[in-house]
Amino acid sequence: MTNISKKFLPYGQQWIDEDDIQAVVETLRSTHLTTGPKIKEFEDKLAAYVEAKYAVAISNGTAALHAACFAAGITEGDEVITSPITFAASANCALYMGAKPVFADIDPKTYNIDPEDIRRKITNKTKAIIPVHFTGQSCDMEQISRIAEEYGLVVIEDAAHALGAEYKGKKVGTLGDMATFSFHPVKHITTGEGGAITTNDEALYKKLMLFRTHGITREKDIMINNEGPWYYEQHYLGYNYRITDIQASLGVSQLAKLNKFLQKRIEYIEQYNAAFKNIEGVITPYQISEAQSAWHLYIIQLELEKLKVGRKEIFEELVRRNIGVNVHYIPVYFHPYYRNLGYQRGICPEAERLYERIITLPLFPKMGNEDVEYVIKNVIDIVDMYRVG
Ligand SMILES: *Cc1c(COP(=O)(O)O)cnc(C)c1O
Repeated sequence: MTNISKKFLPYGQQWIDEDDIQAVVETLRSTHLTTGPKIKEFEDKLAAYVEAKYAVAISNGTAALHAACFAAGITEGDEVITSPITFAASANCALYMGAKPVFADIDPKTYNIDPEDIRRKITNKTKAIIPVHFTGQSCDMEQISRIAEEYGLVVIEDAAHALGAEYKGKKVGTLGDMATFSFHPVKHITTGEGGAITTNDEALYKKLMLFRTHGITREKDIMINNEGPWYYEQHYLGYNYRITDIQASLGVSQLAKLNKFLQKRIEYIEQYNAAFKNIEGVITPYQISEAQSAWHLYIIQLELEKLKVGRKEIFEELVRRNIGVNVHYIPVYFHPYYRNLGYQRGICPEAERLYERIITLPLFPKMGNEDVEYVIKNVIDIVDMYRVG
């Protein structure tokens, strides 16, 4: 019999210890709640972790994408190629700059953007590619870099799922010109809300820093005039996208635990993979040998041909059993806002097909082995119940 009395298990959640709380309290007692030393400390530690020269901490992952698009020089009339199987922010950032998001289809095996379709979607207006390391598995960055070089395009990795991920032995974060991260509570580490951009390029770094604070500079060697010690100049239309020291101190404390968090995620996905490997009707996530995923999400694909019901029924049955499943993602151009911009169904058939078949299962370091076992038991039970034949 199924035990439904269990309390609701979310698909993702933060892990906060007493020392995280202490780190925040310490900052609250200090002189700087914002624009203080904790921000630089967090940036330096994050840059060291992903082996990048520079990191810019920012108010959230969406602001990170916006800043990266600004630094890349994306402007009105440009086209930016990204995946439809992502959070809307990966495409919205192009719209913020007056550019047009262009969707390239996914590889049906990895669910990541297909380099061949990127090639097909390039026009003389294409300015940048935003590959999304979906679920934490790196995109085919070798192919993507080759295409970018061939056509002179900027590569902005949306690494919101991929803090700690590797590609060919190298940390995600410097595989393109810039990489963006998110520290929302469901991501690998959290600052409440927060984000960052990493890069090895000094010129991009300087633009990102300006964009975060209204486009204003106090650097003497950049300023056109210098009228006195009070003086500063606005050079671009930036925003107030600053992160606070309160958040950055939490970031520092969380970053020290990232490897432990990643280890837990791997432990749980290995349990999932082993349990679902031979279950007819369920496809487990395919991994390329060049990449080590950071496992932000664990997604099963349903073989609908082998089931009597659709994804919706299985999803609803899991929710009924208190399992906080999710769907990542609704193809971005399905949203009414994008439809109103003229995007139509059928642009990316593989993405649309995948969307019908996926369910995200709970995965976060703080869950226990017994939670993983509860999910496994119920997924198998439900699939058995609805399998054809
Ligand atoms: C979370 C996420 C973002 C946005 O990050 P926020 O910090 O929530 O603004 C962008 N892209 C992807 C793929 C994400 O998962």
